[in-house]
Amino acid sequence: MNVVLKPDPAASTGCLDAPVLRERGQREVFCGLTGIIWLHRKIQDAFFLIVGSRTCAHLMQSAAGVMIFAEPRFATAIIEDRDLAGLSDANDELDRVVERLLARRPDIKLLFLVGSCPSEVIKLDLSRAAGRLSQRYTPDVRILNYSGSGIETTFTQGEDNCLASLVPELPAVADGSDSLLVVGTLADVVEDQFCRLFEEMGMPAPAFLPARRAGCQPAVGPGTRFLLAQPYLPETARLLEARGATRLAAPFPLGADGTTRWLQAAAESFGVPQDRFRAVTERPRARALEAIAAHRSRLEGRRISFFPDSQLEIPLARFLARELGMEPVEVGTPYLHRGIMDPELALLPAGTRLSEGQDVDRQLDRCRADAPDLVVCGLGLANPLEAEGMATKWSIELVFTPVQGYEQAGDLAGLFSRPFDRRTRLEV
Ligand code: SF4
Repeated sequence: MNVVLKPDPAASTGCLDAPVLRERGQREVFCGLTGIIWLHRKIQDAFFLIVGSRTCAHLMQSAAGVMIFAEPRFATAIIEDRDLAGLSDANDELDRVVERLLARRPDIKLLFLVGSCPSEVIKLDLSRAAGRLSQRYTPDVRILNYSGSGIETTFTQGEDNCLASLVPELPAVADGSDSLLVVGTLADVVEDQFCRLFEEMGMPAPAFLPARRAGCQPAVGPGTRFLLAQPYLPETARLLEARGATRLAAPFPLGADGTTRWLQAAAESFGVPQDRFRAVTERPRARALEAIAAHRSRLEGRRISFFPDSQLEIPLARFLARELGMEPVEVGTPYLHRGIMDPELALLPAGTRLSEGQDVDRQLDRCRADAPDLVVCGLGLANPLEAEGMATKWSIELVFTPVQGYEQAGDLAGLFSRPFDRRTRLEV
């Protein structure tokens, strides 16, 4: 069940009814293993054991090379080539790896077995392995599994699968009371800012999924109302709804406007009076608008295209168009979940070309013909496009950087103005 904000009668319907170009061809995206890089920082006593190949190990090592000074909280158990007859050995091997790991690292309270693409891994039933190992290590360690395979997931879907594996484990709300849950990984500093705002509005303190520690994951039940903080969590949302929780439909908290509308969805649902909402949000909103304005002169009137990658494309395009005066030309997204994205689509300028899925060569042709001023794309496409003279922005940066909320709105705008600054400096 969804609670929808009252429509603004003066507002146009933006891209709500716009046609969507659906493409199914070659994709240029990272796999869902990438999510481990931000998830392991968030859940501080969790460990991610990738059951994969040397390719997976290389991807994680190069993507997370910054981890060399920390006690690592992810690793790859490499499953070499083996036939079906060798699967019981593989299960024994996995059990031994887990036993060694947990004996050496008593700080681990939640262990994720993360599946990958190689056929030897696909043949292994990781949910049975997680069940078997859970029985052995409960109650000290909970063991769950999910897939980060590049065959099934794009890079942000890894988080959706991870959180979806947590939902059945969440405790039930004991007394059926009302509660607010914020779903999706946010930087701790951003969570703290949102907590303060909700508190000042007189609302119950929100819980967060994922929580910072394995033993503190939030309770859920029919009184739970939840806000998605990230747009790429449809499966997690579906499972929360199946447990009786209600999703509050809202745009995402990117920029001053997006953050206000996101907070307002919760405030309205909890009966916060409008004047109190305004009094609490007025000053941080003004700070956000001022910080954003510092970037406007470099971005206003510039044309921008998005290749489908992080699933943040539509909220970002809405922010850049409404708050910085940019013109979105093509906004591609790997998946378009209408229920989740409708509040965003309603705010996107009419006439924006929307595409879902990818046929990379065709999209490259369209991009060259459009000749936008800035292209947001994955790492694999950025260098070739730069070589062709286009300014690019890596979409993965937008997932790694705290960009949600009022206090980060200026930083978010800065991520888009920086490529233009860099070009100006290079030209001088
Ligand atoms: S695409 Fe598949 S094989 Fe490659 S790193 Fe990701 S999970 Fe491993």
